[in-house]
Amino acid sequence: MSKRRIDLLLKNANQIVSFSAQDSWQSQIVTGGGVAVDQGRILAVGETEDLEGEFEGDQIVDARGQTVTPGLIDCHTHLIFAGSREKELDRRLSGVSYMDILRDGGGILKTMHETRAASREKLVEQGKRTLDRMLLHGTTTVEIKSGYGLTVDDEVKILLAAQDLSQKHPIDIVPTFMGAHAVPPEYNNAPDEYVDLVIEQMIPSVAKRGLAEFCDVFCDEGVFSVDQSRKILAAGIQHGLLPKIHVDEFANIGGSRLAIELQAVSAEHLLHSSKEELRQLMKAGIIPVYLPAAALTLMEDRFPDAQTALEDGSPFALASDFNPSCPTASLQFVLPLACYGMKIPIAEALRALTLSAARALRREKELGSIELGKKADLVLFDIPDYRFLLQSLGVNLVSKVIKNGVLAVDKGKIVELDRRNRDG
Ligand SMILES: [Zn+2]
Repeated sequence: MSKRRIDLLLKNANQIVSFSAQDSWQSQIVTGGGVAVDQGRILAVGETEDLEGEFEGDQIVDARGQTVTPGLIDCHTHLIFAGSREKELDRRLSGVSYMDILRDGGGILKTMHETRAASREKLVEQGKRTLDRMLLHGTTTVEIKSGYGLTVDDEVKILLAAQDLSQKHPIDIVPTFMGAHAVPPEYNNAPDEYVDLVIEQMIPSVAKRGLAEFCDVFCDEGVFSVDQSRKILAAGIQHGLLPKIHVDEFANIGGSRLAIELQAVSAEHLLHSSKEELRQLMKAGIIPVYLPAAALTLMEDRFPDAQTALEDGSPFALASDFNPSCPTASLQFVLPLACYGMKIPIAEALRALTLSAARALRREKELGSIELGKKADLVLFDIPDYRFLLQSLGVNLVSKVIKNGVLAVDKGKIVELDRRNRDG
């Protein structure tokens, strides 16, 4: 019997670690196995010998000694902005408050001014550098929120830059409109007028052009109130944008109840949420998204509570919260923070960065696990067992990334882009 020709055969992996909604993670580790990939999809997972008997790969990837996981999914980033904030760091570290830095024109204000002044091309250029780093560290899907423009044109410009990046870059991008990230200074004395601008002009322009899937709001003390957030997210829903919400990062003003009321897809940060609120959120089917790198860089002396979710066996996601004050492009940095800071078992943290992150983006049927028919997004780590992800802190352990069934990273370099550059 002749073998079936396929695009790529990955074989001899020391471990293939994956998850499914039905089974516990233990049953998802395959030792000495492989993955058959064709037309960007996963065709089969199993013993190398069986796969070799059935398939002939045009490309062979030998994963001997390596651990293979689903592509990592960063389900919460503010990736598109101009400039950087390194000059504030020493002041922040010496104890100067963020509010004082903001008053001196720093913080989000600095980023807003620089982002408004930047062209769409400039934003794409800076965004691409970040996405390249993410891909090299094993991330294959990234959610991007707007929110540093805070005018109709600048918010649209950011989402157009996200669209450009999704066409140019191997990483899949999920766009979220977040005009309600902050009240811009020109509306300091009339924040409700800014809320009206978001509702009456920004959301309709973004929705009409099909620039976002989700609408997010920073519902917190000193940012947007529960009532303002409700109005904005309801307007988003009317225009077909699914609700996500930042809650309880600085203070608990009741944002999690709003998340339940509006049946948000996810609720993010949750640094000051009570156990009972977390339980109610999860009972309502809302995915909690925890951002331990944000808690670290804001020097909050706590991490969010993942124990409640672990006790209840409910899914939760982890993400980077990439932004100018938390600029980590590596989910390999977030993983040990979550494990040590939040006491999450390593496999559960991996699930939170793959299958559960896909759920937070409504992509769980397509992404997040190594299962038949799903997109072939795979990461090869140069470690014999997934638990070694916590044995070399601060080191990039990725050896290869397969994105949409194509080798996108090999030996620490981006393959796909090299080829595109050569082609002009
Ligand atoms: Zn955020």
